Amino acid sequence: MKLHHTRDEWAKWLRTKDASLSSFESQAVEDLATLFAENTRLRELLRSAEGIFNNCNVTTGYCMCGDIEDGHVSMFCGHSFVDAGAYHSSQWLNETRQALIGGQ
Ligand SMILES: [Zn+2]
Repeated sequence: MKLHHTRDEWAKWLRTKDASLSSFESQAVEDLATLFAENTRLRELLRSAEGIFNNCNVTTGYCMCGDIEDGHVSMFCGHSFVDAGAYHSSQWLNETRQALIGGQ
């Protein structure tokens, strides 16, 4: 079975197997169907969030070093301003893309 079946698809599959399974096995398969349905829903939500993060700017106005953007002077801080929100949302986006690709 592929991993991304809906709950109804899992329930249909379960009915075809139910006669040959013990109640413990049936419960395990039912639990698995629930988990896969939740996984499918969470993947949908991640894809939505990916779209939002991909098309919107996420900024905090604070550098990774903790200084506010207006007071950040590269010459004194020793590095260029890197917005913490932009950095972390970029990291999140990359990890999310890998997780979504990895799970297919
Ligand atoms: Zn800084």
